[in-house]
Amino acid sequence: MGHEGVGIVEEVGSAVNNFKVGDRVLISCIASCGKCENCKKSLYAHCEDGGWILGHLIDGTQAEYVRIPHADNSLYHIPEGVDEEALVMLSDILPTGFEIGVLAGQVKPGDTVAIVGAGPVGLASLLTAQFYSPAEIIMIDLDDNRLDIAKKFGATQLVNSSDGKAVEKVMALTDNKGADVVMEAVGIPPTFLLCQEIVKAGGHIANIGVHGKSVELHIDKLWIRNITLTTGLVSTSSTPMLLKTVKSGKLKPEQLITHRFSFDDILKAYDVFGNAARDRALKVIISNE
Ligand SMILES: [Zn+2]
Repeated sequence: MGHEGVGIVEEVGSAVNNFKVGDRVLISCIASCGKCENCKKSLYAHCEDGGWILGHLIDGTQAEYVRIPHADNSLYHIPEGVDEEALVMLSDILPTGFEIGVLAGQVKPGDTVAIVGAGPVGLASLLTAQFYSPAEIIMIDLDDNRLDIAKKFGATQLVNSSDGKAVEKVMALTDNKGADVVMEAVGIPPTFLLCQEIVKAGGHIANIGVHGKSVELHIDKLWIRNITLTTGLVSTSSTPMLLKTVKSGKLKPEQLITHRFSFDDILKAYDVFGNAARDRALKVIISNE
């Protein structure tokens, strides 16, 4: 919690070169030194003195002030003329959907992409998959409201999986072949199983979901199908590129924001986010102003 945000620099440490007091900044969910072995490979997720620590191992952004370690490599200047609030979507969900879903899944022009889970990260994958012009994007979710949003965001086919027939429906939409790229954006055993059943021969399963328990891997069925399975924690190495697409209007992250609360009303914000289906909530902005 509290691993996303934008803000204004109030004070800088002596090791910080790229930022000064008063700068408006985007805060990356990943803190990285930029100097260790993993950082040199742009694998900031596994920085030897950082990674995903903000709001996880150290205090996060849901406060009046927040300390960002390794600021030079973990903050980004906010470009002129960009909707600052919308950039909160670039702290985590857009780079996650892009790097762990779209890039790891190797989405190509003409592909059929299936995204399991139309929550914020699934929708972020849907938005950024379109950089590569797939032919079809099939969105799969239990909630019709989220599927409607997915349609507005560019999904070409919607599958409501609440009747337990998602596999049959996806197969019917793909000439019984399955999808070239399947993204798992939920993180529970049934959705991971669904991905294995709808991936095309030679296809990719890109796991984005954060799993809390182990899942079954049907290697006995998949070994012969030449599939690739990828997992990962976002490195946010794509953030500078994503900022350019926001600045030019190609990517519109503000679409993901459904609710806004002041810091004093944070408990209300949690109630809304905890009842996302009831309140039709995607991303909730909490502001100190
Ligand atoms: Zn590092």
